[in-house]
Amino acid sequence: MLETLSRLAGKPLASCTNAEIYAALQALVREKAQERPLCTGNRRLYYISAEFLLGKLLSCNLINLGLRAEVAAALASVGKSLAEIEECECEPSLGNGGLGRLAACFLDSIATLGLPGDGVGLNYHFGLFRQRFEEEKQREYPNPWMDGACWLEDTGVSFTVPYDGFALTSRMYDIAVTGYGAGANRLHLFDLTTVDESIVKDGIDFDKSDIAHNLTLFLYPDDSDRAGQLLRIYQQYFMVSNAAQLILKETRERGFSLRDLHRHVAVQINDTHPSLVIPELIRLLTAEGIELDEAIDIVSHTCAYTNHTILAEALETWPMDYLKEAVPHLVPIIETLDARAKAAHPDPRVAIIDAQQRVHMAHMDIHYGFSVNGVAALHTRILETSELAPFYAIYPGKFNNKTNGITFRRWLMACNPALSAWITSLIGEGWKQNADELEKLLAYQEDAAARETMLAIKAENKRSLARTLGLDADSLFDVQIKRLHEYKRQQMNALYAIYQYLQIKAGKLPRRPITMLFGAKAAPAYILAKDIIHLILCLARLFREDEQVRPWLNITMVENYNVSWAERLIPACDLSEQISLASKEASGTGNMKFMLNGAVTLGTMDGANVEISDLVGRENIYIFGKSSEEVIRLYATGGYHSREIYEGDPLAEELVDFILSKPLLRIGDPVCLARLYKDLICKDWFMTLLDLREYIAAKERALNDYEERDAWAKKMLVNTAKAGFFSSDRTIAQYNAGIWKL
Ligand SMILES: *Cc1c(COP(=O)(O)O)cnc(C)c1O
Repeated sequence: MLETLSRLAGKPLASCTNAEIYAALQALVREKAQERPLCTGNRRLYYISAEFLLGKLLSCNLINLGLRAEVAAALASVGKSLAEIEECECEPSLGNGGLGRLAACFLDSIATLGLPGDGVGLNYHFGLFRQRFEEEKQREYPNPWMDGACWLEDTGVSFTVPYDGFALTSRMYDIAVTGYGAGANRLHLFDLTTVDESIVKDGIDFDKSDIAHNLTLFLYPDDSDRAGQLLRIYQQYFMVSNAAQLILKETRERGFSLRDLHRHVAVQINDTHPSLVIPELIRLLTAEGIELDEAIDIVSHTCAYTNHTILAEALETWPMDYLKEAVPHLVPIIETLDARAKAAHPDPRVAIIDAQQRVHMAHMDIHYGFSVNGVAALHTRILETSELAPFYAIYPGKFNNKTNGITFRRWLMACNPALSAWITSLIGEGWKQNADELEKLLAYQEDAAARETMLAIKAENKRSLARTLGLDADSLFDVQIKRLHEYKRQQMNALYAIYQYLQIKAGKLPRRPITMLFGAKAAPAYILAKDIIHLILCLARLFREDEQVRPWLNITMVENYNVSWAERLIPACDLSEQISLASKEASGTGNMKFMLNGAVTLGTMDGANVEISDLVGRENIYIFGKSSEEVIRLYATGGYHSREIYEGDPLAEELVDFILSKPLLRIGDPVCLARLYKDLICKDWFMTLLDLREYIAAKERALNDYEERDAWAKKMLVNTAKAGFFSSDRTIAQYNAGIWKL
């Protein structure tokens, strides 16, 4: 290996800089990936997604290619470590959160299972945005990642994408996707050669009307005005037109008639952003001389839709006027699809084009896709019985559940090598291919030495993170990392921090110091989410500057939370915060990563927490809060009034009032804090106060139990042992068996 790497570097490895070693390793991965034949089959999958939150790619590729141990040894012989070399890699920020990370985990599992399936998306130059904290507030900057060390390969393939009165020429870049042990596929990312990064000024602002220069600058550019919404439509159409043209080209090259497209292609529409692929495929098939009726029928048997949320504001609708301006050639097709749906199903709740002339993307997907899936058992049930009930009544056979999963290669083998090696030493290598074998760990529940090792590995991971962040490694690490959204209720966790602060100030110390770790980006236009970040950062500073509090309670919020941070924080976590308002978190995947790494969950009965709870049993998880049925009823009846709780519960009142207390106002922006304060009392749409008391009680119980170290270690062990179900290999096997049939 040393020789190979020296050959690739063009000089002895010992005399290479880290960047040169990184380049040699990348060349090695490319060489080995190229040697693998692409996965093939009768039917080929195209997984279209606006997001692929890949994370760094070097380590996982080395694992998948079976090279990690050899490479690590070669690096050690010249005094280097893989972690050190991986510092040279810049994480692409082509995603926003769970949905994009899911797509990345799926690519890994699709290749691992040897299934023919490629990802298709866009190559955003600056990704989402780079988050910085300035004066206890989030500021957004471009997040460039396409330096010389990135994994993109120019394929030279391009297509012409037609708009109204002009056309754009695309360029396709590929990232090789390797499977664990075998298998290779690709991620295709489309871009424009005319994009001009220099038009971005003053943070993340740019001229939104200049499509040829701005189209792929950012993921989710601000859409608070007309130009922003049009830009999103231009982006979405660019993604799906390229995808559709690629699909038809490859299908022809494989020697199949386009009339048989549905037999040889499956298209998975990941959330509604790629929905325009349906009319675009129909348009292209009719342009090839296929009758409209037949084209609609073919596409309806080709496309499948994954729903990721029941939040009404996230189910995309576009004004017909905007579609007429951006993609007028799709409008007659969308109108035909709508007219046919209306003729068959007059119920206005299932219309594609509503009375306000808005186009409901999800409705088009459901009428003209052959499968609709939710992402956790509870979520799918809510879709069927409440959110999409009128559709379920029409198409019961289309609805199905595919509980999300995560790739254990990244979320255990790569990020927690110590735990991974120890598991292998106990139960062998089999769990890496068949995650259910993790259950063999249950045999070690009563083994005192095993429990001690579990604690020792966690302690070492905590020390490592503590060195980076300047933390007390003996404190309890309580972690909430996820996008910032009111429904995820970071604000409830902040109210707990206030509770604990007031306890300490009153002389009631916790049994052990507590470190509360946060990581979260807020959408740039989401004011209340930014106010919550402000509150958390103000509390962090208040605690830090108070000598009485500092030894006992620390808040650390990492800047620019991303996959690399997740890989550091999750193996070091003791208590995993999964506290969304029941019914609102479709699945969550962070919850699975924590569980796998031996953290114990503090959570509501929401999303996949329900399945986690069923698997580990109530003695190995801390569940609190109102059920999804109760919450759905409260929304339906308008029965929740936060002010009643605020006025009726002195504890809630004291904690909320602290947001406008003197010590916080000395640090924070009174406008932000007052806005948040007022919202919690007058609106609190995601019902923070509803579960506050129960949350505090459950957390206190968890902190108390944590001191029974041996009993806690058993909980950790059971969590890891029962995590096998959440391998994305299982999820993908189910997608294939139930939907794709590749
Ligand atoms: C897993 C992951 C998420 C999703 O977290 P949830 O807690 O499920 O919302 C978001 N961001 C990153 C970087 C992740 O790795």
